[in-house]
Amino acid sequence: MPDKKRKSNPPETPNAMMLRRTLFLLIVCGIVAFLVLGLRLFKLQIIDHDFYETAAIEQQVRETTVTAARGTIYDSNMKILAMSASVDNIYISPAEIKLYDEDPTLIAQGLSEILGVDYNDILAKSAKTKSWYQTISRKVEPEVSDKVREFKNKYDLKGVKIEEDSKRYYPYSSLAAQVIGFVGIDNTGRSGVEVYDDKILTGVNGRVVRAKNAAGTDMLFTSFEDYYDAENGKDVVLTIDSTIQYYIEKQLAQSVRDYDVQNGACAIAMDVDTGAILAMASLGNFDLNNYQIVDSDVQAIIDAEQDPLIKQQLLTEAQLKQWRNKSISDTYEPGSVFKIITLSMALNEGVVSQSDTFFCGGTVDVPGRNEPIKCWKTQGHGSQTLLQALQHSCNVAFVNIGLRVGAEKFYDYAEAFGFFNSSSDPNAQLSGKTGIDLGGESGSIWWPKSYFCNPDQKSSLAVASFGQTFNITPLQLITAVSACTNGGYLMKPYLVKEVLNSDGTAASKTEPTVVRQVISEKTSETVCSMLEQVVGDKTQGTGKNAYVAGYRIGGKTGTSEKVAQDAAGGNKEYIVSFLGVAPIDNPKIAILVLLDTPSTATGIYISGGQMGAPTVGRMFADILPYMGYQPQYTAEELKTVDKTVPNLMGMTSAEALSKAQSSGLTARVMGTGEAVTAQLPAANSVVAADSQIIIYCGETPSGEMEAVPDLTGMTYSLARQNMGSYALYIKSSVPIIDSSTVVVTSQSIKAGTSVEHGTIIEVTVADTSDLGRY
Ligand SMILES: [Zn+2]
Repeated sequence: MPDKKRKSNPPETPNAMMLRRTLFLLIVCGIVAFLVLGLRLFKLQIIDHDFYETAAIEQQVRETTVTAARGTIYDSNMKILAMSASVDNIYISPAEIKLYDEDPTLIAQGLSEILGVDYNDILAKSAKTKSWYQTISRKVEPEVSDKVREFKNKYDLKGVKIEEDSKRYYPYSSLAAQVIGFVGIDNTGRSGVEVYDDKILTGVNGRVVRAKNAAGTDMLFTSFEDYYDAENGKDVVLTIDSTIQYYIEKQLAQSVRDYDVQNGACAIAMDVDTGAILAMASLGNFDLNNYQIVDSDVQAIIDAEQDPLIKQQLLTEAQLKQWRNKSISDTYEPGSVFKIITLSMALNEGVVSQSDTFFCGGTVDVPGRNEPIKCWKTQGHGSQTLLQALQHSCNVAFVNIGLRVGAEKFYDYAEAFGFFNSSSDPNAQLSGKTGIDLGGESGSIWWPKSYFCNPDQKSSLAVASFGQTFNITPLQLITAVSACTNGGYLMKPYLVKEVLNSDGTAASKTEPTVVRQVISEKTSETVCSMLEQVVGDKTQGTGKNAYVAGYRIGGKTGTSEKVAQDAAGGNKEYIVSFLGVAPIDNPKIAILVLLDTPSTATGIYISGGQMGAPTVGRMFADILPYMGYQPQYTAEELKTVDKTVPNLMGMTSAEALSKAQSSGLTARVMGTGEAVTAQLPAANSVVAADSQIIIYCGETPSGEMEAVPDLTGMTYSLARQNMGSYALYIKSSVPIIDSSTVVVTSQSIKAGTSVEHGTIIEVTVADTSDLGRY
């Protein structure tokens, strides 16, 4: 092997000196050259960085977002309540308009025509030549963006851009608006289920990154392509049944009109066995597709305001008000509906029985209270059984029942029913929530234990016994009453039935949650049978206006004075309410209705019995048949409910008369022909029992028109007679129990309208007897 040892430090030769100088020169030249290049690079990379970077990315690497679809919201029958569809955002890139020397006026002209955006605005945006993104129009429907695409291609405009976006659609507009909620322009949830379940509904956007040449077409044979799949959002299936929701909203709206309700209304329908929310409504509501638009009457007030700041403030207030879910966000004093709770705990503790009697002289003295507590019936209810005390909604009897339960027990039950959570601090103000899977739930307000259970001060116990001076949400009340009627189990209310993956497979399913058993099954049965007598007993029950012929319904009225107004010395204002449960022999559905501040101007006595009960009754009349419960009429009811007109055509006049009579109608014959040639009203119409139908034998019905009479204030039977004299007919929105006491409150065709003979008008009725006045 040769020796590879290097020689060290050879003496410097002239050649080496030349090399060193050359190197030195090269270095100097190099530095100068690099300095020039460096300065150039500095300008390119630092000063013009953004411009060139974006241009390079635009030309060579295209990244396309693959938008993840937001999940659909369904009702319990898989009807779509909220869905997303593809739309486009139109924007311009002023930097590219400049770069490719495109004509801004042509672009402004074209886009303003297609999109209806102001020409000068577009021109002003295109002058911002350092910008690569100026929005012209957002969430444009596909057919409009197609026109933009045509325009862009026609003139080969690189500065006009179309990007994919999605838009939320709500097929039922205002139905269950506060529950479903809405999304903002960025597609994230802002209220209701849309925000509470935002994480479930939102997917993860995907991306496609491709290398492209300057012409913008994909490069061949490039390995530079990555695809990141979008992960679509999950679908949410609610417990809401849109049909039940529709009936609830329809009847609630009717009552808001009939009773001129000033401050909105709400209603909840709950499956008493599971705690599932079948419907939840707040009025006034809004169209989810245009959630910022407020009621036209309110808008008129806003328009009339001159000060722009106040204008904005009024609009914001109106929007927040319409978006508010009163059923869970508002608290109120439940009033007499709470007597169901007091009754349940007293029966469960065995401190009262159905054979007990109570005396009401109109007032009752309570230890620690200077003034006696008054019954709503100032002259007193006299001696009454436990059932009658409930039927009459007697405050004095219920103070006595509450005192028998005692403060400590009452407090324990109130907590067990979910009205508050106790605290280790006896002086703490107490609060509680149901924990429903929806945002915006307010907490209740309940006395500190030290105050409520003070043996010398029984005032709070006494007033709590009939539901006053503490505040709870409507949802808390219906959840607790459901426990009273379902065998004693407090259920956790819920709104999401299940969550589905985007391929339709189940991701999760909500199982009903028993929070605790509060009362025994036996107590619950007794409570149900007593609640049925509040509605079903026509001579004793304050809730009789909720009765629906053919069905077994239980319930309780409530009339709560709004304390703030009273204290302020203004006119007294009331929240009237009714809570109904059906079928009461095997409870399935509970409905709570609250009407906030009915007007005194309608002439109808402001009370849960006169206003809340008929509202719930009409809801049950719609909902129970829908749920598959067939009416079981008593013989007496069969006489009074509306009748279906039989087909009499071709019969002899004698046969037709007999058929009409056996159908619960009367008839008169026109003409002398052998057989029936025409009839009024048409076969299968529904009209009031005992209506007189007209049988034509050879004659033709008169073509004359009749002016509709004003029926309001007439009893149902009088209205029927009155209409009959014009050959016009009525039917009722609810089965009529006693046509001589119920009074028409509104009619489907206005008085004075010209109509044909045989026209049928639907009327709403109210029972005006004193009994329903609480
Ligand atoms: Zn009384």
